[in-house]
Amino acid sequence: MDDQKPESKPLKIGKIVVDRDLCIGAASCIAVAPGVFELDGENKAVVYNDHGADDETILLAAKSCPTQAILIFDEEGNQIFP
Ligand code: SF4
Repeated sequence: MDDQKPESKPLKIGKIVVDRDLCIGAASCIAVAPGVFELDGENKAVVYNDHGADDETILLAAKSCPTQAILIFDEEGNQIFP
């Protein structure tokens, strides 16, 4: 029997990490998801609320980062992006 499971699992973000060595303070992540990211005193993005936007918006924010400094993991710890 053909037992095909659909691949389109709903996105579930477990963890957001900003690589401070890659972040150049461009702030596009903050423009996309101001409820999640902010700049600290060193002009590096930090996550102050990882539930401050829906998962699609957080992923968009990560994709908007020019240096791909935002790493996204799912709830099992698998890297989703980049
Ligand atoms: S978009 Fe990337 S480089 Fe810009 S502040 Fe956010 S993490 Fe840093």
